Amino acid sequence: NEKNISNQEKVENKTPSQPAVFIPVDRLPEIQEARLKLPVLAEEQVIMEAVKENPCIVICGETGSGKTTQVPQFLYEAGYASGSGIIGITEPRRVAAVSMSQRVAKEMNLSTRVVSYQIRYEGNVTSDTKIKFMTDGVLLKEIQKDFLLQRYSVIIIDEAHERSVYTDILIGLLSRIVPLRNKKGLPMKLLVMSATLRVEDFTDNTKLFRTPPLVIKVDARQFPVSIHFNKRTPMDDYTGEVFQKTCKIHRMLPPGGILVFLTGQAEVNNLCRKLRQAFPYRRGNTTNGEDEDTDTSEAMRKFKKAKQKKTVSLPRIDLDNYSALPVDEGDEDREAGIGDEDYDGSDLEFGDDPASLVEKADPSIPLYVLPLYSLLAPEQQAKVFRPPPPGTRLCVVATNVAETSLTMPGIKYVVDSGRVKKRFYDRVTGVSSFKVTWTSQASANQRAGRAGRTEPGHCYRLYSSAVFGDFSLFSEAEITRRPVEDLVLQMKDLNIDKVVNFPFPTSPSVEALVAAEQLLVSLGALKEPPRSGSVKQMEQARLSCPITPLGRAMASFPVAPRYAKMLALGQQQDCLPYVIAVVAAMTVREIFEDLDRTAPSEDESTKLAQRRVRLTQMRRLWAGQGASLLLGDLMVMLGAVGACEFVGCTPKFCEENGLRYKAMVEIRRLRGQLTNAVNSVCPEVGVFVDPKMAPPTEHQVVCLRQIVLAGLGDHLARRAQAEDVLDEKWKNAYRTPLLDDPVFIHPNSALFKTLPEFVVYQEIMETTKMYMKGVSAVEAEWIPELLPQYCHFGSPLESPSPWFSSSTGSIRCHCSSTFFRIAWPLPAVEK
Ligand code: ADP
Ligand code: MG
Repeated sequence: NEKNISNQEKVENKTPSQPAVFIPVDRLPEIQEARLKLPVLAEEQVIMEAVKENPCIVICGETGSGKTTQVPQFLYEAGYASGSGIIGITEPRRVAAVSMSQRVAKEMNLSTRVVSYQIRYEGNVTSDTKIKFMTDGVLLKEIQKDFLLQRYSVIIIDEAHERSVYTDILIGLLSRIVPLRNKKGLPMKLLVMSATLRVEDFTDNTKLFRTPPLVIKVDARQFPVSIHFNKRTPMDDYTGEVFQKTCKIHRMLPPGGILVFLTGQAEVNNLCRKLRQAFPYRRGNTTNGEDEDTDTSEAMRKFKKAKQKKTVSLPRIDLDNYSALPVDEGDEDREAGIGDEDYDGSDLEFGDDPASLVEKADPSIPLYVLPLYSLLAPEQQAKVFRPPPPGTRLCVVATNVAETSLTMPGIKYVVDSGRVKKRFYDRVTGVSSFKVTWTSQASANQRAGRAGRTEPGHCYRLYSSAVFGDFSLFSEAEITRRPVEDLVLQMKDLNIDKVVNFPFPTSPSVEALVAAEQLLVSLGALKEPPRSGSVKQMEQARLSCPITPLGRAMASFPVAPRYAKMLALGQQQDCLPYVIAVVAAMTVREIFEDLDRTAPSEDESTKLAQRRVRLTQMRRLWAGQGASLLLGDLMVMLGAVGACEFVGCTPKFCEENGLRYKAMVEIRRLRGQLTNAVNSVCPEVGVFVDPKMAPPTEHQVVCLRQIVLAGLGDHLARRAQAEDVLDEKWKNAYRTPLLDDPVFIHPNSALFKTLPEFVVYQEIMETTKMYMKGVSAVEAEWIPELLPQYCHFGSPLESPSPWFSSSTGSIRCHCSSTFFRIAWPLPAVEK
């Protein structure tokens, strides 16, 4: 082993890795002064020596010690961006990529042309860029275009402890790319940065790094934080408890900022409203910035500004405009898609305002309340870094974003709800749900640490120490909790056929990989494995199916494989512009305002009822009539996109018609991007997207339904038949082969009253019942034709068997004198 190490060192020492130049940076004196206080500055020498001597290093340091803002500057000054290569930094969150690039540009007194960012839909990278912040998904896409990443001399993987899927895969890929680059005489460095959490997954993983990388620890100047546990643990109304605790701190405890951890955007906004009511801070006529904090006015301002410049049109199609891999609908911020802090349609009820408490509160010292969550506009986010107005106390109400990605000054008290919102996905049934669960011990300690950045602090945990003892030690790596078909396809496209052998920091389960390969085979993206040979050989073959040309085309579309399949089929019958619009709308989360979620006050309720009626009417209008109605919820999406574009996609139109403006803007960008992707894969098609499209003809609607069926073939459901309906719970219900329980069409769906015999759905979300989302009707006779891979053809003699068999998980059908059973290939997993 020792010999190996020294050999490797010899190789490394030969690489001309250390640039001889020193690039001066002209920082403002106050910036320089603040920098010198950061713990990471004390380690600059050590870090730069280590980088010089080693191809890969790990930097571990408490949140707020200066890793993200300072390490790129060290590398820049040492000349790592002075040659042809630039410095790249990946972040799992879009928020962090944008805000950190701006911060570093400011600290270095350089323009954003030089210190830039790139996230899924936007960026300000120029030919002058030397330091590039990006989301991890963006870098993964770049690896697909240039495996050696020759534009970069250094890659920094930041926030590695978050264990986002793309971060994990990047580390796996870079563990191979870096030695390859150095072997080819194109030196490259890899820095993995992490909060002080479980770095052993990276360092002690011999599959990943043959020689464990050097770990540099940065000691943070952390002040002691006293932890106060609750005696009892509120189980239901924890948000009410959070409110009371925050009020109490504000009324009784000495000055110092308060940071509150909740789970989602709706909770955060609710608490902000209540706190502002209890301790009003008035400036001019607006109360505590409430008006300026709303998304709508922000959107309106941006829109007006854009309009002054020129009329809004689809973005110019640009072949270099990268996109990240598909985004899970549950999340807009993390490109990999944990829905941990966002608005998701399943928010817990916020208890009634405890009026007595509001009265008792001493409103003499105003509380300056700021929300902080991922979807907040950057200008609003920046506010948390500024000191609060004189005579007020700062109170930041945040989601997980404040746990490690962003550090704000002046926090003395932390109120920790102990909860986190996570998306759960059942691999066997394909059912998703958002659940609020306990966080991990490591995360709870991170949260507590936020209180001790500038002076000794206090952390109030709204749960007992016994409950804390039951928390898991660390949060699970995301890759173990989500479907991986998109990743498997991307990796196959990188010619990594045996994905099981990939050096993942934490490997997804074999069942998840098998399920992914099976889906991709059914979609035609991978070659079917041979059905002969020994069991072991067949098992092996199932896990190493090579990619097909269709698979390559699909991999180049920045959407999940099921949608990519639809795009690949889309050019038929001039349907492509519609397929693109539908896919864009399905990929962007929550495009419709959900009225059920807004809890109205007494006087608002009639207004709200009127609004509900109007929005229902609009949706009915978009759903169309006759043939188009059968496209169901996808037709509503198409109608909404068409109508919105027809008036130029204005915030006013969206507001009036219950559409989320941000979502509509994103759909527009994505349409441009998908058009671009399709054109580059099949130039002969040459689609051109006119934002204003005419509604599809009846003929096209039929084609669209077939294209949707081809993509969502494994998401087919059939209406419960006579045998079932005797049982009350199967009334109006649907069967899917993988679930024993009934699933339903949501009351908000365009097909709620139609109840077609066969439908396909986008996903199943479990709330009060299991509801199918994004439902579209299909005809029985299309199934054997378009989805032969799921059908077992039989003779009428078989007919005495029941229509549904839970033992084989199949549905038996008969149409046009063909008998067939629809049976999904089940992965070999025990339920
Ligand atoms: P780490 O990456 O180790 O968690 P950072 O580099 O993010 O640390 O933060 C270092 C310091 O810079 C922190 O004290 C933080 O408050 C400060 N900081 C970061 N962004 C901003 C900003 N936009 N404005 C003011 N201060 C900031
Ligand atoms: Mg950081």
